[in-house]
Amino acid sequence: MGLLRQLVKSATTACLPAERWLVRGRSSQAGPLPAISLTFDDGPHPEHTPNVLAELERWNLTATFFVIGQHAATHPQLIEQIVQAGHTVANHTWTHSEPCRTSAVAFAEEVTQTSALLEKLTGMKPRFMRPPKGELSLAKAMGLWGAGYTVALWSVDPRDYRIESDDDACSVSEQAAWNHGDIVLLHDNRPGAAQLLRVWGAAGRWSQCRTVPLTTWVKPSALQHAVTTRGSAGASPSLQSVS
Ligand SMILES: [Zn+2]
Repeated sequence: MGLLRQLVKSATTACLPAERWLVRGRSSQAGPLPAISLTFDDGPHPEHTPNVLAELERWNLTATFFVIGQHAATHPQLIEQIVQAGHTVANHTWTHSEPCRTSAVAFAEEVTQTSALLEKLTGMKPRFMRPPKGELSLAKAMGLWGAGYTVALWSVDPRDYRIESDDDACSVSEQAAWNHGDIVLLHDNRPGAAQLLRVWGAAGRWSQCRTVPLTTWVKPSALQHAVTTRGSAGASPSLQSVS
C-alpha cells in the first residue's frame, strides 16, 4: 500500500466512528485473553469453504464471511452452513468488480443485490460490507453509510493467497502476528486459509486468544434491530447511490 493511501486510511480511521469505518477493535474492550476477529473473503467456494468451516469447528473459532453475491447464489447451501455454524455473513459485492472501473451507481446495485440475496437466505440483512481490495471512493462510502452499513476493513493481512505448499503455510503462519482488537484478512476461495487455521492451531495460537464476531467492536445497529423485529411494516432500507 502506498504511503498516501496509508495516510488517508489512518486519517479516516481516526476521524470516523467504528460503526461507520471498522479497521480494528478498540483496545479498551480487553478480556482475559486478547480478542481478534477472523474474516474470510471471496467465497463461498464449494471445496475450500467447507474446509475452512471444518477447521473453525475443530478449533472452536468464530468468523465473518464476506461473500461474493454471485457465488452465494450458486452455492446457497454454503451460506446456510456458515450461519448454522454460528458465523456471520457479510457483503463483498455481487461480482467483486474492479473498484477503479466500477461507478458508484453500479457498486450500489451490486451491494443491494447481494444483501437482498443474503437476507433471503439468512433472514437478516448483513450489517458489514467490505469493498473489493478495500478500496472506496467517497461517493461509494456515503452510499453505504446512508444505507446503514458498517464498512469493515482489516488490520492484519497474512497474505494467505501466497500459500501453495505446507512449507508456505508454515512460513506465513510464523510471520503473522496479532494483538487485541485486530481484524485478520483471510480468503476461503483458496486452500491456504484452512491450512493456516490448522497450522496456527497446532502451534497453540488458538489457546492464546479469543475469536469474536465483528459486532463485538461496534454498537448495536438500529437497522439490524429493525430488520429482525419488523412486522408488516416493511422492507429494509435500500442502498441509495451517490453519484
Ligand atoms: Zn475480495
